[in-house]
Amino acid sequence: MSQAVRVGPVRRRLVGRVEGELARALEDCRARGVTTRVDEERAQVGVALLRTLDRALEREQLGSGAIHGLFQALLRGLAEDAAREPASRKRFRERFGVDAPGFLAIAPGKNCNLRCAGCYAASGPRLEERMGFALLDRVVGEAEALWGDRFFVLTGGEPFLYRDQGRGILDLAGAHPASYFLVYTNGTLITPAVADRIASLGNLTVALSVEGLEESTDRRRGAGVFQRVVAAMGHLRQVGVAFGLSVTPTAENYRELLSGRFLDFVRDQGALYVWVFQYMPVGRAPSLDRKHDYRFQTEPRGHEQASPWRAGGLVAGPRGATAGLRPGTERSSRRRSASS
Ligand code: SF4
Repeated sequence: MSQAVRVGPVRRRLVGRVEGELARALEDCRARGVTTRVDEERAQVGVALLRTLDRALEREQLGSGAIHGLFQALLRGLAEDAAREPASRKRFRERFGVDAPGFLAIAPGKNCNLRCAGCYAASGPRLEERMGFALLDRVVGEAEALWGDRFFVLTGGEPFLYRDQGRGILDLAGAHPASYFLVYTNGTLITPAVADRIASLGNLTVALSVEGLEESTDRRRGAGVFQRVVAAMGHLRQVGVAFGLSVTPTAENYRELLSGRFLDFVRDQGALYVWVFQYMPVGRAPSLDRKHDYRFQTEPRGHEQASPWRAGGLVAGPRGATAGLRPGTERSSRRRSASS
């Protein structure tokens, strides 16, 4: 499969077929009067994901590790689960009367090498609070075995700073090759060696946080951070890793995030996606004055747009769960909606 998708005509036929199936399934639901905004958002996300991958493959942006990870661990796994629901998910529903969370977001530690203004997690240097690696590994293993999960989000703190007993998040991804990991990172620790290891693992993508272009990013994150993120994207591009950006629109930067200049930057850097998070006035020095309701009035040119948060397309029912740390405990669960 991962070889076949490199062949343009084969891939385009496949994409067309899956899009057709999604459209038919939605029509079918509408005809039976059971479509919800949630179903429509999920279909929208599926189409955006497919078209984005199609474009990345067309431009030969992805290395063999990334293609293998995306198609084997993520897409094939999800397709298999859709065709035949894993027994673990059925058992969970029978026991609790609701679906098991479809993914898990984990903040394994609070330590961060930056100290951004208004950090949602109040993270910063020398904060030693973290989950032990054995616990982290067990949480992922149990979500796989008991909930049938294959998709995990790692956030923080800075996930690439996390280490326990000499092991970090790349060891975690290596220990769970059938799952796929999305890592929110400030990007400053992605060296050529780290990019190489991500490329060879294949089963993770990184979302690098910026506030817009150089001036806005450095104003909030610190002098020189934007150029370090640009350098990280260069290392990831070099070895064909699937990567994207993560932004949080506020009253200060929303115009820039909507601008053609920013969208050109996204395209020129080869970022496959941009996660847009609502600003949540929590963490260090929260301020309601920064909040801004951000939305594209029209389809941003050359980009797919999907909004899984409006009707809760990715979170309806218990779609996702989070695990992380609170002062004084080794674990806790909470909801979050902000980026690293
Ligand atoms: S916003 Fe992200 S990068 Fe900045 S201090 Fe917080 S965790 Fe670190």
